[in-house]
Amino acid sequence: MNQHHALRLLIVEDSADDIELLQHSLRTQGYVIASAAVDAAPSMRAALEGQEWDLITCDHSMPNFSAPAALAIAKERCPDLPFIIVSGEIDLNLAVALIKLGAQDYVQKSELIRLGPVIERELRDAGLARQRRLAEDKLRESQELFRAIVENVRDLVAVLDTEGRRIYNSPSYRPLFHESDIRQGSSSFREIHPADRGRIKEIFHRTVATGVGERAEFRFVLGDGSIRHMESDGQAIFGPDGKVSKVVVVSRDITELKQLEAELRNMAATDVLTGLANRRHFLDRLEQELARVHRHHGHRASVLMLDSDHFKQVNDTFGHAAGDKVLRHLAVLMQDELRKVDTLGRVGGEEFAVILPGADLPAAEVFAERLRKKVAGTPAAQDDRMIPLTVSIGVTGMKISDASADDALVRADRALYRAKECGRNKVAVEV
Ligand code: GH3
Ligand code: MG
Ligand code: MG
Repeated sequence: MNQHHALRLLIVEDSADDIELLQHSLRTQGYVIASAAVDAAPSMRAALEGQEWDLITCDHSMPNFSAPAALAIAKERCPDLPFIIVSGEIDLNLAVALIKLGAQDYVQKSELIRLGPVIERELRDAGLARQRRLAEDKLRESQELFRAIVENVRDLVAVLDTEGRRIYNSPSYRPLFHESDIRQGSSSFREIHPADRGRIKEIFHRTVATGVGERAEFRFVLGDGSIRHMESDGQAIFGPDGKVSKVVVVSRDITELKQLEAELRNMAATDVLTGLANRRHFLDRLEQELARVHRHHGHRASVLMLDSDHFKQVNDTFGHAAGDKVLRHLAVLMQDELRKVDTLGRVGGEEFAVILPGADLPAAEVFAERLRKKVAGTPAAQDDRMIPLTVSIGVTGMKISDASADDALVRADRALYRAKECGRNKVAVEV
């Protein structure tokens, strides 16, 4: 071995003859040697500082130096450098003591032929140790990297075993959960909302079975009972046997996003002036109600169209701002008369409409009459004056034969037109 690269050998030895013998022996064993010899502590220190070495051989006793002292210096400066005692007669106990202190081996000067194989073995071991150290350094570095990332992101990072038990939770869990709730080994499904738990377990076990991660939404129930909406991505980690050994789950808190979404949805469905359902949302609700009429035999529903009488005069007399206030007054007034299941919408400028689920035509007519009276009997206050108000109302029932919500609206509109014709502040019905 080492036919091509010189063995960088530091020889701790005082006898020039012995140095020559050692070099000669190694050369005959195939080594190309780049060596230096030292025989005292200062020169040894200087040699170790000055360059890199592959190995140290060391005589046992020298006039100005000794193997224990040399070994101490070697271990202090280059702890991984193989150190081999090469001496004359040496007490076996002493040799063992030196090996305990970190020397790799000892070879007697009378059997230098053994030195070659010993060096070869030590160089191989040193190479392996170096590789192991490099691998350990790499592992440590990647662990540090993992921690640096995981401990500084706001996302929640969990490492789970294949049963969903916790192996690791990132510090970002701490603001949400008590330390005891996320103990290692505890089930990670416990904090999930009971209504979501089965579905999430299913997804988790699918990831373990297939190795394919999935995205999922679910709710966490916190210690104080509050609820957080989460979105998570699962990622399978494979063991040496090629099977899934762990699952890494990265979750984000999307509670605020969900709230914003709901607000936006609400905004898109709401009339700004009155807070009632806007025309589009009202028509959606009406289509849903018609679908129920189609689906459930015997389900009845009615729809009312209302229009303020002579509303132009309100604007002309009191101003547009007062007109707006009157529209809000009407909205509150009518909403108060409704049941929870009813839907009141503002479907035009001063036009409103109501869906009455479960109400047949006679019941709807009675309700319309009550609404008409209520409005007529409750004028709006404007400064010190009262604004008298009336509404005309058209009533119709929703029919199985209605192809769309529009069919019912057209009938309600026609009834409303007749109520106007009959002098306003009236209820008219179209079957
Ligand atoms: P009738 O329905 O009894 O036939 O008479 P009307 O005066 O109510 O009928 P018309 O449809 O001619 O007028 C409706 C008025 O409602 C006209 C418009 O200025 C007013 N209006 C519509 N939307 C708003 C609104 O958002 N705010 C205010 N202040 N007025 C509105
Ligand atoms: Mg009108
Ligand atoms: Mg009107």
